[in-house]
Amino acid sequence: MDYRVSALDRAAFKRCRRQWDFGSTNRQRLQALDPEPIDLNQAIRDALAVYYYPGMWDWQSSIVLPLVRKAFMRSIAAAPPSADRMQALDLGTELLERYFDWAPSVDDFGPLRIEADVEVIVPDIREPERGLLSPDGQRVLYTERVALVGADVDDEYWVVVHHVVPDWQDIESLLLDEAAIAACWAWEQTYLGMDVAGTIHNEMLRSTPDLLGRAPADTRTGRPGRGGYSQNEPSGGGRFLPQAERPDRLERRPATRPRVEQEIAGPLRRTRIRRTRAEIDAAVQQIGAEVLDMLGPDLRPYPTPSPRHCPGCAFLAPCLAMTQGADPALELAARFQRGPEAVSYEPRLGAGGGGGRNISLPGGPIRES
Ligand code: SF4
Repeated sequence: MDYRVSALDRAAFKRCRRQWDFGSTNRQRLQALDPEPIDLNQAIRDALAVYYYPGMWDWQSSIVLPLVRKAFMRSIAAAPPSADRMQALDLGTELLERYFDWAPSVDDFGPLRIEADVEVIVPDIREPERGLLSPDGQRVLYTERVALVGADVDDEYWVVVHHVVPDWQDIESLLLDEAAIAACWAWEQTYLGMDVAGTIHNEMLRSTPDLLGRAPADTRTGRPGRGGYSQNEPSGGGRFLPQAERPDRLERRPATRPRVEQEIAGPLRRTRIRRTRAEIDAAVQQIGAEVLDMLGPDLRPYPTPSPRHCPGCAFLAPCLAMTQGADPALELAARFQRGPEAVSYEPRLGAGGGGGRNISLPGGPIRES
């Protein structure tokens, strides 16, 4: 058995060690008995996984969009009935309809994989040629589910990240999006030979801009329907895209390209950030250092209170008890149960095989250190 550190685990560890200690599959793995709050971001992501499903990318919108709506409804319906659920349903439906209108005017890639699971050995930063081992000798793996990987017209691969946001995020936050950079690294290590050019941050505004105007009638690539690049042409993304970049595409790539390209289309904003090798390598070092901290014998799971994350924390009540010097055992026993030993992702259509079409991707062996 391996010691798996998921991207969610890592984020929790960095956010608040006490929260991580309560909830991590490698720690107390406590799960609240109360239903989880509605996750609109996840529901939209579930819907976009169908929108960009490679095997249906060439299908007519009149067939695909109802399936996208259905995927969203299914995700929302998993939560118990509540006023929040109705609100999320209304807002998410509106967001999706806006997305259908505006996304074709900015989509300039072809989807290769959606919801792809990747896992790689975490290097031991004290001995870079070796993989990190847990104290009881297990391999330590970093795991992630990548929402979307697409290829552009130059055969460059991009990790696409979806964000539903109240306001556009500042560019510094996107540049420093360590989860997205880690996803680039994990993808490259899982699919050897597929170097990633960078990340595309696909932001959707929650609030309705006052004057959106009319969505453009033309798609970015000229391809009718949902735009992007077809699965049936060798021009970026799709069925005939080989795993290695084609020589003519390599030749025509400009020598220099901007680090950041950003554009707004109605309620959507696309930020394309080229990630350097040094940037990805630095992220690996950082993950190695963080996991060493997680595994360290002197780890102290201290709390990191913040108005940003405490209000939504499932462990607020036991944490408050501990802060007051009380024993949280009663609270934990009454409201939590032990969860599974590993992060379980719901299986997704097309997550494992590029959408069931004949997309040529190299296999995914884990690189042994
Ligand atoms: S309530 Fe805040 S400080 Fe306490 S465990 Fe949760 S995130 Fe950490």
